[in-house]
Amino acid sequence: MTKQTLSFQTEVAQLLHLVTHSLYSNKEIFLRELISNASDACDKLRFEAINDGGLYENDTDLKVKVTFDKDAKTLTITDNGIGMSTQEAIDHLGTIAKSGTKDFVSKLSGDQKADSQLIGQFGVGFYSGFIVADKITVESRRAGMKADEGVRWISGGTGDFEVENITRAERGTSVILHLRDDAMDYCSAWKVKGIINKYSDHISLPILMEKEEWKDGELINPNDENGGRQPGAMVKTGEWETVNKANAIWARTKKDITPDEYTEFYKQISHDFEAPLAYTHNRVEGSTEYTQLLYIPGKAPFDLYNREKSAGVKLYVKRVFIMDDAEALLPTYLRFVKGVVDSSDLPLNVSRELLQESRDVKAIREGCTKRVLGMLEDLAKHDKLPEATTSAEGVTDVVTEEEKAEAAANAGKFTKFYNEFGAVLKEGLGEDYANKDRIAKLLRFATSTTDTVSVSFADYKARMKEGQEAIYYITADNAAAAKNSPQLEVFKKKGIEVLLMTDRVDEWALNYLQDFDGTPLQSVAKGAVDLGKLQDEAEKKAAEEAAEAFKPLLAKLKEALKDKAEDVRVTTRLVDSPACLVVQDHGMSTQLARMLKQAGQAAPDVKPVLEVNAEHALVKKLDGSVHFNDLAHILFDQALLAEGGLPEDPATYVKRVNALLM
Ligand code: ADP
Repeated sequence: MTKQTLSFQTEVAQLLHLVTHSLYSNKEIFLRELISNASDACDKLRFEAINDGGLYENDTDLKVKVTFDKDAKTLTITDNGIGMSTQEAIDHLGTIAKSGTKDFVSKLSGDQKADSQLIGQFGVGFYSGFIVADKITVESRRAGMKADEGVRWISGGTGDFEVENITRAERGTSVILHLRDDAMDYCSAWKVKGIINKYSDHISLPILMEKEEWKDGELINPNDENGGRQPGAMVKTGEWETVNKANAIWARTKKDITPDEYTEFYKQISHDFEAPLAYTHNRVEGSTEYTQLLYIPGKAPFDLYNREKSAGVKLYVKRVFIMDDAEALLPTYLRFVKGVVDSSDLPLNVSRELLQESRDVKAIREGCTKRVLGMLEDLAKHDKLPEATTSAEGVTDVVTEEEKAEAAANAGKFTKFYNEFGAVLKEGLGEDYANKDRIAKLLRFATSTTDTVSVSFADYKARMKEGQEAIYYITADNAAAAKNSPQLEVFKKKGIEVLLMTDRVDEWALNYLQDFDGTPLQSVAKGAVDLGKLQDEAEKKAAEEAAEAFKPLLAKLKEALKDKAEDVRVTTRLVDSPACLVVQDHGMSTQLARMLKQAGQAAPDVKPVLEVNAEHALVKKLDGSVHFNDLAHILFDQALLAEGGLPEDPATYVKRVNALLM
């Protein structure tokens, strides 16, 4: 076959134009694309050789070589993979076979800005070479074909390309980029190595470059001031070195990887010095195929509470690095997770925008979320050392030393996790509706009777009092304020446990959790206290009578406090305190409103309800007092202070108290 000139398929010409005109701001990706093609070619050879070992031609050592020649201004990527026949070179490098890519090109508008955004949606592949080259020569011979059946393909990346028959002893493909003048910096070993490290470290194939060493220039005149030498230079040594790590741990079989190797990889990607608490490594098959290797760290980073903070999962496509911190792969409340997702379904050139929309990514995100929650459930299950159980027949569990050691190694991990990340996990109640129940099961709280943050909703439910119909909780700025809150008085008196919620996120998160496992959650600071069956008839009757007798006084209080309180009523929730503030059943709590205001956000003016204790001496004293108005305001302001708030006008409050003290 003699030399022939052929035209590119229309779509290719369009694509080429786009590549050369809109990708120059992201030049270096060409190397990633070409190395990925070389790696694919080796994968294909490996696959075909399963049935035809002869294709290896006694060379099973698959690799990629990257070389450059400053004088010739070329950068060459050579592989000993499957190679191409002449027809394949014409078909594969002159047309676009993939329908997805074709569709894409047909959508191009010609508007460069719009098009360059679109280009993020698929791999530009081989043609990306034209970002840096004004001419590309491809020389190839397909595995199993004769040496004189090689092909040379040449194109300047415009309308057409040339093909001719050549003799090529080596199997595989060389892609020779004739670099543009403004791309000559790719003729540098460190620059090329840098790009390979960035994108292709985890390609499992070795990528080789020729070693260079410094050589002094020639001695011309020893008496000259700079030693009389010509300038020195890096020269090639003829030795080859592997410049990538060539080891994608996640692509290896689980059983061949030691726990130490998993830990080392974690440290490498997380920059953490400590081992992770847990990891999960899976190949997911099905409509979307990917591999996940995810870790739960033992320590929170300093910027954990910044929801804008970058996520910790790296995205690879077919072992080629695509991007760090791919936030689309996990919901924000799992931003503490570190690891790698490697997909074979996404295009190499996938953009962040596309990630947000892709169906495959959605499936990956769901899969990863499930796995992470699964890991946490596992940690929770093994948090406490198991107690030896004795069966009805009097047989005590036989526990081997190994099992004991494993239990000991896992004990306490969940507590550690929860102390670091519990508050972040709670965001999931609002963010991840589908997994709300699983998240709720993982939450732990301190309670009015337990100081450590260790009580789950299930634990709480298991020890609820006979007749108790709700899970009671209180939100406050800190544990001490929660524990000593007047609103807890009646619960303490009746021995009812109350969950203490002191994380900033609690108020917000609990809006999304109405019940746990069928039992409603009830804030003790919202609405009227309804202890339901826990309240006996005599108490109920006394309360009703008190309310009746107090009516005229309540009306006066309401009038005096009409600017501050939504309502004033008699309560049974107080024992020792004269008054407390509550909000209407579905209203925003005063804490949340306060928090929002502190954060500079718009918050409705929450007017709380003042509840008074009819049994309290101070309240009894109100009626007929000459200081009625001052007392009323003090009662209100003190109730506010008791829950960690501040009177609107502290100076006036102090004046009023002092007047009474004197
Ligand atoms: P993609 O790799 O996404 O299919 P490319 O435009 O990068 O698209 O490459 C087009 C085709 O050219 C490939 O599918 C492959 O058949 C062929 N090809 C590219 N590079 C090589 C190579 N180094 N060895 C063998 N075939 C190759």
